[in-house]
Amino acid sequence: MNTDAIIRTGRQTVLIVEDELVNQQLLGFILKESYNVLYAQNGQEALDLLHSEKYRVSMILLDIIMPVMDGITFLRLAGEDERIRSIPIIVLTSDNEMELEAFRLGAMDFIKKPYDMPDIILARVRRIIEFVEDREIIRDVEHDPLTGLYNRSFFFEYSRRLMEREKERTFDMLAIDVDRFRIANEVYGRTFGDQVLCSLADGIRKVLHGHLGISCRADADLFYVLIEHGADLKNSLEQIRSCIHEGEHPSVLRIRMGAYSGIGFEHPVSWYAEASKSACDSIRRNYQTDIMIYDEELHRRELYNERLIADVDTAIEERQFVVFFQPKYAIQGERPVLVSAEALIRWNHPELGFVSPGDFIPLFEENGLILKVDNYVWREASRRLREWKERYKLDLHISVNVSRKDLFSTDLSQQLQSIIIENGLSVDDVTLEVTESAYSQDADQMLKAVKTLRDGGFKIEMDDFGSGYSSLNMLCMMPIDALKIDMKFVRNIAISKTGYRIVELVAEMARALNVPTIIEGVEDREQYELVRRVGCDIVQGYYFSRPVDAENFEKLIEKEASQRG
Ligand code: C2E
Ligand code: MG
Ligand code: MG
Repeated sequence: MNTDAIIRTGRQTVLIVEDELVNQQLLGFILKESYNVLYAQNGQEALDLLHSEKYRVSMILLDIIMPVMDGITFLRLAGEDERIRSIPIIVLTSDNEMELEAFRLGAMDFIKKPYDMPDIILARVRRIIEFVEDREIIRDVEHDPLTGLYNRSFFFEYSRRLMEREKERTFDMLAIDVDRFRIANEVYGRTFGDQVLCSLADGIRKVLHGHLGISCRADADLFYVLIEHGADLKNSLEQIRSCIHEGEHPSVLRIRMGAYSGIGFEHPVSWYAEASKSACDSIRRNYQTDIMIYDEELHRRELYNERLIADVDTAIEERQFVVFFQPKYAIQGERPVLVSAEALIRWNHPELGFVSPGDFIPLFEENGLILKVDNYVWREASRRLREWKERYKLDLHISVNVSRKDLFSTDLSQQLQSIIIENGLSVDDVTLEVTESAYSQDADQMLKAVKTLRDGGFKIEMDDFGSGYSSLNMLCMMPIDALKIDMKFVRNIAISKTGYRIVELVAEMARALNVPTIIEGVEDREQYELVRRVGCDIVQGYYFSRPVDAENFEKLIEKEASQRG
């Protein structure tokens, strides 16, 4: 091999693969004013030189007829080689027949022998090098550097073009997301996270193999795929999963897929992508399935949710939110005694009618609006309690729900304190219900928040106990003042021995922790007798009363006051 002695930096390098010395020298002479020039006598030498990776070659000029390895074989091998494929090749030939074959194998251009027009040769080489470099720059702009997939904006643009071009075909849009990716990244490290994303991208490439379509990484762990309709979604997800499971820590990752089937031209492509993402998000907490297809029902729900979100401020201003109260009775004495009430929000929407808290509380917990709404409830409930205390001079308190999101806000304790002070109440008057599931996520943070509240004097009831999966160990560490047994345990208390025994055990556990038990959802006399027998202290449920508005709750207070004499 004969390489040009001086490799000047800052210049591109051209490799001439040619066995005839005269031709080598002639081409070298034309090019070496502008480029560094390397030479190889045949295809094999050229491959060896390229594999040595000593030089960054910008262009190959390739003769066809050579000993050892001819130009056609070189083209074929180069096409299969990831490292060489991207280097542009100009074929040197006097044989017209060869041109077509050379193009078919990936050559970008050809130069006719003999080399009688040096300026044209130089101009061709320069143009192609520039063109390929521009293409690489564009590629970098269009692609996500980590996974090599398109980025979001180019994906939308190319999807649109693809659909325009292939009008007679139907396409689906897929969104693929990883559960709790941020946490996995934190726990297992960024390298792990990157590996997962790359494997996911490999999986997506596999899915697209043999199908018309393109894909992108749209966000940290969110991928979109536009694919010709007809691919089996379950198989596709399995393919992606198997790529990830080849890596480490397979069991911690759940991959979800949302799809919009048969996308059209009524909306921009991004709209369909958002829709598939919504479908994907809708199963975030539903572990029964990992695939969801966007449908009319989901669309209606989305519009409905948007409406609720948009209307919150007006609802607060116009007092559309109403606080209901559900009484709690202490049941271990001679007669049930009204001791407290849980404040429960209701929304009387002027157009949508009654909206259940089950519909808007989880929604507002997701986007943080719950902070406003809960603050409103705490104020309303405290204001009512003050009135009742003044009017009836009864020893009565209320409990309010505190959502997980509330616990994250740093001034929660101050907020509650100031509401209490404004209403002339004390921390003993307002108990805080924190749902058990709040403890199972970010346990440390919750412990800290609950501790701060208790340090401020507040009493904490662990709500919905037994509905989530907080460990018994957690219960030992947790500073709580009452255990509120979830409604579903009462369902079975009268039905089976085991059902009865479980409530009994939870009550015993609460005694061991030295805290009273409250049981919710008691609906009839039989259930009531049984929870009394197992030793539950306080009952809340339809058996005594449904949640009622302040006026009706006041009637219950009146009754209690007259009974107490
Ligand atoms: P929760 O805190 O566990 O409240 C108890 C729920 O059980 C209430 O539903 C109540 O109406 C219902 N309930 C009470 N007794 C019975 C019974 O005997 N049978 C049956 N079937 N149900 C009974 P509601 O009012 O629909 O509230 C649902 C959930 O919404 C609440 O569960 C709570 O997690 C949340 N929520 C309600 N109001 C607020 C609020 O102001 N702030 C926050 N953050 N969450 C609230
Ligand atoms: Mg509650
Ligand atoms: Mg509850």
